[in-house]
Amino acid sequence: MTLTRRHALASAVALTAAPLLPAIPAKAAAPIAGKQNVGDAEVTVISDGASTFPLGDTFVLNAKKDEVNAALESAFRPRDKMTIQFGPLVINTGGKLVVIDTGNGPGAFASSKGAVGQFATNMAAAGIDPKSIDMVVISHFHGDHINGLLNADNQLAFPNAEVLVPATEWKYFMDDGEMSRAPAGRMEGVFKNARRVFEAGLKKKATPYEWGKDVAPGLMTVESIGHTPGHTSFVLSSGADKVFIQSDVTNDPDLFARHPGWHLMFDQDPAQAEKTRRKVYDMIATDKMRVQGFHYPFPGLANIEKDGTGYRWKPAPWNPSI
Ligand SMILES: [Zn+2]
Repeated sequence: MTLTRRHALASAVALTAAPLLPAIPAKAAAPIAGKQNVGDAEVTVISDGASTFPLGDTFVLNAKKDEVNAALESAFRPRDKMTIQFGPLVINTGGKLVVIDTGNGPGAFASSKGAVGQFATNMAAAGIDPKSIDMVVISHFHGDHINGLLNADNQLAFPNAEVLVPATEWKYFMDDGEMSRAPAGRMEGVFKNARRVFEAGLKKKATPYEWGKDVAPGLMTVESIGHTPGHTSFVLSSGADKVFIQSDVTNDPDLFARHPGWHLMFDQDPAQAEKTRRKVYDMIATDKMRVQGFHYPFPGLANIEKDGTGYRWKPAPWNPSI
């Protein structure tokens, strides 16, 4: 399996998000050279940018701000602020060009002055034509994962792609009863945004997928609920090699891999999210399976080991061919 972590050096913001990256060659050519054997997979992480904001008292629901600050400091990060990164993937697997999650989209690109929503521009800079994408696989329906399905004109950003969505997530967010019972504020907003993207934008042209099945060659869906009712991770396999694409099983690993019992304010069912997190991290630590994290620091590939009551994440050293 080749993990190509190219980064489109398209903007100063992108560089700030990944300061070590000038050492990595930014190829202008598309990754698909027709040279892969069947079963090989090439993974390209394309940064959607990063969002920095003041650390709120309730960012972690069940830890004091002092404790969160201590965790940030122990990771050599500044106190009192959070930076969350976003890392969609383009996978060439068995001749299919597959996108997993689409970033914050053009609206957020405009409102954040380009800090997030960079997926489209960085993909173009990486030489990947959105028209060549065969399939977009969505992990869950939060805006930072689905908003990039549409372009600035609210048209399909990947006009030739089939869009695959978790069946459970689809059923939940398309249910008018569930929507009517959603608490005002954030949850109501998640429903409205999901309807904007999938009803107004995609005209409901999405294919629900089940868990435990391959949606593309070597790409298996894995139930990992809690963050949302249909939240999904993936195992990408090629021969004996495997990577666990976790989506949002943890948000920032310095906080939530180190402290799997901490509850993120965006976890819809925090207790279930914790249960899933412990189960997944026990499994990947025991099996020595690498993890690819959507909100891990770019490029987001890491090894996981148990450490006391939590887990230590170690960024996988960059190599053009692993
Ligand atoms: Zn997310």
